[in-house]
Amino acid sequence: MSGFLIGLGWFLLFFGGAIYLAYNRINLLASTIASGSVLFIYTVFGSGNFFWLLLLWLAFALMVIPNLRELRREKITRPALEIYRTMLPSMSDTEREALEAGNVWWDGELFSGMPDWDRLMSFPAPLLSDEEQAFMDGPCAELCAMLDDWDIAHERGDMPPEAWQFIKKHKFFAMIIPKQYGGLEFSAYANAMVIARLSSRSPTASSTIGVPNSLGPAELLLHYGTDEQKQHWLPRLAAGDEIPCFALTSPQAGSDAAALIDSGVVCKQLWNGKQTTGILLNWNKRYITLAPVATVLGLAFKLYDPKHLIGDQDEYGITAALIPTDLPGVEIGRRHYPLSIPFQNGPTSGKDVFVPLDSIIGGPEMAGKGWKMLVELLSVGRAITLPSIAAGGGQAATYASGAYTQIRKQFNLPVAKFEGVGEALARIAGHTYIMNAAVSVTAGAIDQGEKPAVPSAILKYHCTEMGRKVANDAMDVHGGKAIMMGPKNYIGRSYMATPIAITVEGANILTRSLIIFGQGAMRCHPYVLRELHAAQDADTERGLIDFDDALFSHIGYAISNAARSFFLALTHARFSKVPLNTPTHRYYQNINRYSAAFALATDFAMLTLGGKLKIKELLSARLGDVLSCMYLASTVLKHFENQGRRAADLPLVEWSIRTLMYHAQEQLHSFLRNFPNRPVAFILRRTIFPRGRTYYSPSDDLGKKVVELITQSGDSRDRLSAQAFTTLMPSNPLGLLQEALVLSEQLLPLELRLRQAKKEGLIKSDYVGHQIDEAARAGVINAKETAQLRDYHDKVSYLLSVDDFAADDLSRSGANSETPAAVAVTPAASATAGNSTKKKVGKKKTVSKKAAAKKTSKKKK
Ligand SMILES: Cc1cc2nc3c(=O)[nH]c(=O)nc-3n(C[C@H](O)[C@H](O)[C@H](O)COP(=O)(O)OP(=O)(O)OC[C@H]3O[C@@H](n4cnc5c(N)ncnc54)[C@H](O)[C@@H]3O)c2cc1C
Repeated sequence: MSGFLIGLGWFLLFFGGAIYLAYNRINLLASTIASGSVLFIYTVFGSGNFFWLLLLWLAFALMVIPNLRELRREKITRPALEIYRTMLPSMSDTEREALEAGNVWWDGELFSGMPDWDRLMSFPAPLLSDEEQAFMDGPCAELCAMLDDWDIAHERGDMPPEAWQFIKKHKFFAMIIPKQYGGLEFSAYANAMVIARLSSRSPTASSTIGVPNSLGPAELLLHYGTDEQKQHWLPRLAAGDEIPCFALTSPQAGSDAAALIDSGVVCKQLWNGKQTTGILLNWNKRYITLAPVATVLGLAFKLYDPKHLIGDQDEYGITAALIPTDLPGVEIGRRHYPLSIPFQNGPTSGKDVFVPLDSIIGGPEMAGKGWKMLVELLSVGRAITLPSIAAGGGQAATYASGAYTQIRKQFNLPVAKFEGVGEALARIAGHTYIMNAAVSVTAGAIDQGEKPAVPSAILKYHCTEMGRKVANDAMDVHGGKAIMMGPKNYIGRSYMATPIAITVEGANILTRSLIIFGQGAMRCHPYVLRELHAAQDADTERGLIDFDDALFSHIGYAISNAARSFFLALTHARFSKVPLNTPTHRYYQNINRYSAAFALATDFAMLTLGGKLKIKELLSARLGDVLSCMYLASTVLKHFENQGRRAADLPLVEWSIRTLMYHAQEQLHSFLRNFPNRPVAFILRRTIFPRGRTYYSPSDDLGKKVVELITQSGDSRDRLSAQAFTTLMPSNPLGLLQEALVLSEQLLPLELRLRQAKKEGLIKSDYVGHQIDEAARAGVINAKETAQLRDYHDKVSYLLSVDDFAADDLSRSGANSETPAAVAVTPAASATAGNSTKKKVGKKKTVSKKAAAKKTSKKKK
């Protein structure tokens, strides 16, 4: 027995010691000395026989060799480098430029397998300046109040002229333009908050305003424009005298945008009466936001110089230039109709349009640098506009659904009380919390100078996907109320709009399958890019030294990740170091665990699949999901801290982290299940999941706590929808719903009294509207209480009602149509009129082909 215990002691010393060294990433020399010392002690005092000791010393010799740098470089690294060079995946210039865009931030820590939480936690909480707050409460709220989405979508097919005027006057298009050029110079955070608020009110407005503040001429000019170009264009753009758009997509080149065939040929022509070197452009673009009303096009095309007028190259590649739309040959004005959200979007074409060379953004020396410019800017812009649109939509859906399901009763209960509805409500609230966290934490990082390319792709994909889930759930919990289109439907149009955000700025399937992990693996991995650069170094001896250093650091890193992965999984990460001792500390530990597991899986995937990983999209996508879930969960933790660690919000934090990390676990499991190299998959599974899959999704009880937060008025509900436009006014359903929710809480004692009276037989009717009268007659409630209940009942009736239309009102021509009365009717008036709204107030204009054509010809004039 004592022999067994001594043997076990030695085993624990060796095995535990190895895990300890690897887990803590002790360097190779120190690890070798420590291992040699233990082996020496074992040889002297242990009871191992000769052959066993020989085996151990041989293993130790293998550990010593990498310490002898010259030897390992010649005998191991040189041949390895030869093989590595033959395995290098082919990479086009455009792919390389996309990979190298932006910088590495928290994503790099997650890739390291050992995230340094201080790096994230030390970022200040993003805040609005006084000026930005005043803009949110002033012009932004005023614009929201001006917008009537039904009117925009069904009456005009556009925002009203006064809204356009207001947008230009208050410089909504100039949030990113510096003050020196007359812009607002807002932070990324403020930009995101404004877009989120607009999105909670009108998808048309948020899309219209989002684009010029994202990837467009202003952003390109700011980063790459010449001084002259900046002085010319930026003040005009800031004042709204110029309306910009950016035209990249063409019929042939959608996701593969670099495959565009639009061309510019360098030539000489007369320009303002002088023979000038310039570019003769021909293009055919589609899907371009703001193109129908644009005065200046940011145009992407391929530049050719067959006569070598600007250099000795025939072809320069993708180039970006600014093209005034009033030049001869430019065609704009026709419109697409994106899923019945009538923001200005349409095709544009140009035939033999001549512009001088200095139309190239950044001047002639930027010829051929267009793609690099675009992907660099996308690395920031993608984190702001679309994720904020999704978050704003989520906030509106949360606010509306929480109140609606409380005032809508079926089976004598608010529908929110039914578990099935509650499950959907919890998803709405939880996903909104995640979107809010991701947007504000990432925008805050951008304001601190980060250009997080991979997180931007994560936000673009996941926020828009979560926005879609929230829109689906909001539809379901509203039932028929969300289906019947009309002025009273505040959910349907956002639901229709969700695929737009999914498709633009890199369609989501592509973003998930190719970009998130593909870019992350190259950019964020601590050694892969170093190895790649070393292998491609023209100075082969320098390349060998760099490659050797990167390779052996990489091997140590992989061993460490295996040890960390195994130990953290075995112990449920209980002993892992975290930055805070708060109720959330376990979530940090779980992210630590998955970071190590993810890093290990990534290394084996790259090692065994090499360049093939690029076409194994589903494997890449799953690893990308694991990375994304860790990133989003980290932002949730940071957001919770940024908001002052409010205990009331803990259910939201737990729901979010559980949902994300459960998904991470499942995706990692699916990755291993589908990994083509089965022996490697087996070893990885034993290392990553030695105790099986132990993480659970949110419990039903947790879901109920989340539902309570959004179905009752209070701080958590308000915080979750902080940017949504909730002002109480007759045309704002969010304000009206909140009013009804608060009344329902205040009047609960009266409602209970009515219920008791019904039980006692004092009132007979089942319908609340009649119960109020009966209760008043029976003296159950006094006159004041009767008025209060009647007022509440009327308000609820209005909010539950839907629109109906005259039969010919829905015909395509819209002839002899009626506009539903609700447009001009206050809640109280509507409620007394009952559910049906049939009052004639004017003729309806639909967005007909005729109207569109008329607008086009007007524009051309
Ligand atoms: C409303 C709206 C506004 C827009 N605004 C602008 C604008 O202002 N300026 C501009 O230049 N463009 C704009 N676009 C274009 C937009 O960027 C493209 O629609 C987008 O890049 C996708 O191209 P596509 O529609 O041709 O889809 P396709 O390229 O045909 O893709 C079809 C599907 O295949 C998937 N896919 C393609 N390749 C891969 C792959 N390798 N791996 C996995 N999946 C893949 C895509 O994800 C997508 O799901 C806009 C589009 C819309 C709808």
